[in-house]
Amino acid sequence: MLASLADYHTHTPLCRHAEGWPIELARVAAGLGLGELGFADHNPMPEPFDDWRMLIGELPRYIESVEQARAEFPQLNIKIGLECDFIVGHEQWIEKLAGLHDWDYLIGSVHYLPDGWEVDHPKYISRHKDSADAIWESYWKTYVQCIESRLFDFVAHPDLPKKFGIRPEGDLRRYYEPAVAALAETRTPFEINTAGWRKECAEQYPALDFIALAHSAGVPLVISSDAHTPGDVAAGFQDAATLAKNCGYTTTLRFTRRTRTAVSIQ
Ligand SMILES: [Zn+2]
Ligand SMILES: [Zn+2]
Repeated sequence: MLASLADYHTHTPLCRHAEGWPIELARVAAGLGLGELGFADHNPMPEPFDDWRMLIGELPRYIESVEQARAEFPQLNIKIGLECDFIVGHEQWIEKLAGLHDWDYLIGSVHYLPDGWEVDHPKYISRHKDSADAIWESYWKTYVQCIESRLFDFVAHPDLPKKFGIRPEGDLRRYYEPAVAALAETRTPFEINTAGWRKECAEQYPALDFIALAHSAGVPLVISSDAHTPGDVAAGFQDAATLAKNCGYTTTLRFTRRTRTAVSIQ
């Protein structure tokens, strides 16, 4: 099964909260017999912005570290992209980044809400307890804008605000439906991100209801580990592939220079 899958969402030490250089992640991927490995470290900003991403001046080192992994593991297809923070009003910066290298893909993520705080940062956990509905409202509105920007080859961890295990009451499809409609409309894929299984929510991103709605709407998917350490490359991929198949999916996507190809899940 792993030979039919690609893990495109992985990080490097340049983001200051991950360990293992591309060469070390590639060693794990080659050992597992993974179909493809891709890197998508947190995108640099034009000016210093926060403490969990590479600086703009580090971009050449990022590209070079991926090239080293390619040279060391020529039998493994290694791709390069970025996980880009979608921030309303900063779309032009993403367009600029897109032109700075021959990326295989750009991933769109929402970590920052329009009022400027980080939805997945543990220091704000009490805010989730106090106002889950308002946070989800704001997050999903931004997530739809991220999809509708059409700046990205796929979007990451759809229901990220559940990270700490706190969710609004009731049927959460009210939040998923507009996002799935935007994905279908723009033909944008989403990822099943297995990092959720390693967090307090103990559930993949996104929830099963989201995946089922997306399948009904004909939205394609990819499967990602969001590895921040070599040991997490392709983590949970067997279970994620089974989940995707149970929802009716038969293929995932591969990306080369921002062009997609569907590959059967074995
Ligand atoms: Zn992320
Ligand atoms: Zn990530």
